[in-house]
Amino acid sequence: MMNFDPRVSCGSLNTDHTGRHILLAGWVDALRDHGDILFIHLRDRTGIVQVVFDPGKAPSQVCETAASLRSEHCIRVTGTVIAREPGTENPHLDTGTIEVAADGLDILSAADPLPFPISEKSMVAGTGAAGTDTVNEELRLQYRFLDLRRPSMQEKLFKRHRIMACIRRFLDGRGFYEVETPMLTRSTPEGARDYLVPSRHYPGDFYALPQSPQLFKQLLMVAGFERYYQIVRCFRDEDLRPNRQPEFTQLDLEASFIDEEFIYQLFEKLVPEMFAVGGISVSTPFPRMTWHQAMETTGTDRPDLRFGMTFVDATDLFTDTGYAIFKQIVDRGGCIKGINVKGQSDHLSKNVLQNEYAKQIVPEFGARGMTWMRVTGGKLDSNIVQFFSGHEQQRIMERFNARDGDVLMIIADTSWHTVCTALGQLRLHVAGRLHLIPEDVYKPLWVTDFPLFEAGADGLTSCHHPFTMPSSTEFDPENEEDCLALTSRSYDLVMNGEELGGGSIRINDRTLQDKIFKALGLSGKEIQDKFGFFLKGLSFGTPPHGGIALGMDRVISMILGASSIREVIAFPKNRRAFCPMTGAPSGVSDTQLAELGLGAGSADQALPGAAPEADLVETLSWVSRIQISENEQAAVRQAVTNAQAMALTLESHAGNLNDREPVYRIFPATARTREGTRPQQHPLAENRDLLKNAPDVSGGYFKVAGILE
Ligand code: ASP
Repeated sequence: MMNFDPRVSCGSLNTDHTGRHILLAGWVDALRDHGDILFIHLRDRTGIVQVVFDPGKAPSQVCETAASLRSEHCIRVTGTVIAREPGTENPHLDTGTIEVAADGLDILSAADPLPFPISEKSMVAGTGAAGTDTVNEELRLQYRFLDLRRPSMQEKLFKRHRIMACIRRFLDGRGFYEVETPMLTRSTPEGARDYLVPSRHYPGDFYALPQSPQLFKQLLMVAGFERYYQIVRCFRDEDLRPNRQPEFTQLDLEASFIDEEFIYQLFEKLVPEMFAVGGISVSTPFPRMTWHQAMETTGTDRPDLRFGMTFVDATDLFTDTGYAIFKQIVDRGGCIKGINVKGQSDHLSKNVLQNEYAKQIVPEFGARGMTWMRVTGGKLDSNIVQFFSGHEQQRIMERFNARDGDVLMIIADTSWHTVCTALGQLRLHVAGRLHLIPEDVYKPLWVTDFPLFEAGADGLTSCHHPFTMPSSTEFDPENEEDCLALTSRSYDLVMNGEELGGGSIRINDRTLQDKIFKALGLSGKEIQDKFGFFLKGLSFGTPPHGGIALGMDRVISMILGASSIREVIAFPKNRRAFCPMTGAPSGVSDTQLAELGLGAGSADQALPGAAPEADLVETLSWVSRIQISENEQAAVRQAVTNAQAMALTLESHAGNLNDREPVYRIFPATARTREGTRPQQHPLAENRDLLKNAPDVSGGYFKVAGILE
């Protein structure tokens, strides 16, 4: 047995330890061979210290072992702390004024040659430290266990831990209980696809991994917990985006007998504490903006308030204009808005404005075009300025507060939404291009009163989720216009143009919840199937309640200034939702599939101990999901034997079929009852659950297993 007690951590050493004999354990970060003397950097999770193997001081056997050291060998060292010779200190290291003169060494485990360098600290003062910034991310993810040895990666995960610890301490101090909710559950309606897990015990049925614990946290309120939170993994099978992960971590929270104000005040205390872990100060109170104001002034529901350039509405200036395009738009009830890019005319030439922005960039944002005006010599200058009267030009200057050197960029369209969203993207584009967004500034805000519904191709959908309390309960669920005019008691927390989280006050009245489901076009049966258990809960004295969830990977990467959320997750998937280290997702064996009643091999392998030859009838019964009673078995066996005989006859006439492509035929599914029995529909058939496990179902047809054909 090897003794590690008392082990001293590398990062804790300083001149106070001089003269002490100590025991260290860790990894060889770097080596420098000075002829006889070998220097190494020894690293553990607390830091790095230099260890010297000097044949003049250390036993020869120790020096011999030291000669075989390589990067990332895991070792145990004993030695004495000594002050470094003046002039040999290493300013790259916190422990750079001392070193350890080794007298003992054990190689605990050797390391293979590394796929990329791990060391981030140079051994020699004045030379650049190594790093993995240039290492391909895919390779880093494949060897994540090595990538995570890098002090900078460990630092990020330690800070992540501290942010999580800060949340737990904060919420515990305010009476919140952390309660775990199921990972294997039913689908939750957060608007994404579910990750499904097939059930072995219920072949053909699936659990869904939670998109969020929404329904459970509401049921905890029904259950009287009053204050719940959970730092929880959520799963959403969404389209791939660079900064998205199939599984991500939420701070999920819910409380009873509260209103919006409670959530605002709670998070205006918690968020600054979380950001303080990264040394960032966030000022309070957070400003609030309704969704409508946000759209009107920034064209987005997540405004970036680090810079100005908010929208100026100029529609009313052009009711009688001679500029036909604007006139027509105003006459048709459209909207004209613009931004003033202050003092930037030197950086926005006519050519850039006309040929890049008006002709290419703005059309990509969905608007037909853009009108621009530069201000020089107290006057507007543009390719269309002659169409505006002197008075109009004067009023434009006033409305936009335009001064020499300013550039006005204006978008007009019959659709308010198009103007806002295109101008919003333009605002961000110009600010990014001209470096107008200050760094190291953090501007939070609450965006409130979102629309309750939005119109989709198949009717209404919820903007947040269907459990959000509408601002008015007086509406006709069958009147789409009525519904679309509703706002909700919802709120998003936005920081620097990113949505960090969102939540709402919930519906706690069963009748109102039913009305919302109806507006969403769900039939009574669908409501019952999907949410029956939840509605039951709502019918037993549900307290008024509300909550919020923050996307913690995003919050942490913002606090740490990380380039992507993958940098703050220990084992993330890559941009394509694939894990280069484990190779997940991966195929599974036919046996596993068969056990789950899935895949081609399921028919014969799923049946315990029943190869088709062993019991053809039982296999047939399993494949077809038709119970064959004992007294029917002989007849079925005979029928199958006849079918086989016929197949053989056919084959003998057709020749060898092995090298031909199989022919698939589709048969209409018709219900046949056995003679002498009363026709009766099984409840599974009524719900269309009966064919759920068929490999291919389309309308009233399904593809039957080859053996049945
Ligand atoms: N469940 C919601 C979400 O994941 C958050 C909430 O409404 O509390 O977005």
